[in-house]
Amino acid sequence: MSDPAKVTVIPCDSYVSGFPECIESLLEPIGGLSSFVSQGSNVLIKPNLLTDRHPDEAITTHPEVVRHLVRMVRDCGGTPSVGDSPASTVKLSRVQEKTGFLDMCREEEVPLLNMEQSGSVEIKRDGYTFHIAKPVLDADVVISAPKVKTHVLTVLTAGVKNMYGTIPGFLKANLHKEHPAVPDFGRLVAAICRTVPPALSVADAVVGLQGDGPGTGGRPARLNFLAASTDAFSLDLAICKVLGIDPKAVSYLNGAGVPSGLPDIQVIGASSIDDLSPADFDVPSTLGARLVPAFLVNLLERFLWIRPAVMDACISCGRCVASCPVAALSMAPKEKPRLEPEKCIGCCCCHEICPEKAIKMAQSPLLNLIRRGRQP
Ligand code: SF4
Ligand code: SF4
Repeated sequence: MSDPAKVTVIPCDSYVSGFPECIESLLEPIGGLSSFVSQGSNVLIKPNLLTDRHPDEAITTHPEVVRHLVRMVRDCGGTPSVGDSPASTVKLSRVQEKTGFLDMCREEEVPLLNMEQSGSVEIKRDGYTFHIAKPVLDADVVISAPKVKTHVLTVLTAGVKNMYGTIPGFLKANLHKEHPAVPDFGRLVAAICRTVPPALSVADAVVGLQGDGPGTGGRPARLNFLAASTDAFSLDLAICKVLGIDPKAVSYLNGAGVPSGLPDIQVIGASSIDDLSPADFDVPSTLGARLVPAFLVNLLERFLWIRPAVMDACISCGRCVASCPVAALSMAPKEKPRLEPEKCIGCCCCHEICPEKAIKMAQSPLLNLIRRGRQP
């Protein structure tokens, strides 16, 4: 276990009014941006651009967050660029356009990188092998700008999980196939974040995602805050505290090397962290399943499954079929996808990519019982 780093949190209810001042104040207690960016440094800003959705849907980092980081990097004498590698079945150009990043980067005259085509380097760490996109490794400084969202697989996605997007394209789905067990996948996510630790993470929680995120299965939630830290793990522990999520349910916060206890949280403009907790916030329906002890999961594996169920809203676009890393889904022309349950590893890739909210992650009867037992 390492010592937790300081996390700063500030109330912020708009991406327009007073927003630049909010980010400035947020970073002040950790030395301001000039303590991370020096004259001439090459700075990569890494947002979450999961898929091709409008910023109002809160599935991707709001472009205004990155716009202000770009300007602040320039004010410090650094040279900014922006890049992420979205979920692999969606064309990158479409993602960049729909999320507002194409326009924002044009307006700010900042390069918007294609991390699918920029080459990658194979890395071995903590027993895992994965590829990291070269621009991430070549940058002098990486600033992560995650969106705060719920996640049916990892329960939360924020600072740590944002770095999973440094894996180019379909290689992300391959890693799901190689590491289907949730605790193992969590350790992999943590290893990736430790390989490319951002110097600074600035989390966008002005509007976040609740329910069955991280894609269209979630619903926007006004969270009204920004948070920042030099350590992505400490940042996520603080976000868990604000959202009332038990960090034990978040697989990447459970392994070795994660700070123990609550980080040092400095709240700016509010008297305590509890003042920032939303009155209503829906956690993912899978949270109960993620709290089942590992020995029980191993023992009752056959009875503890989470699988996609295709709903009537399906438009037969085929994205889910293309995104499945184990070919568990197939589809005849103009029909709905069909699942081969014995092949499914419950990775939720199909769920997060569906443009029509037509995939629900169904849970086995035993998991449903466990979930009901945990509800107050
Ligand atoms: S379930 Fe969703 S992603 Fe799959 S084919 Fe239907 S609409 Fe497309
Ligand atoms: S069907 Fe969906 S949840 Fe199952 S393995 Fe394929 S992508 Fe993952």
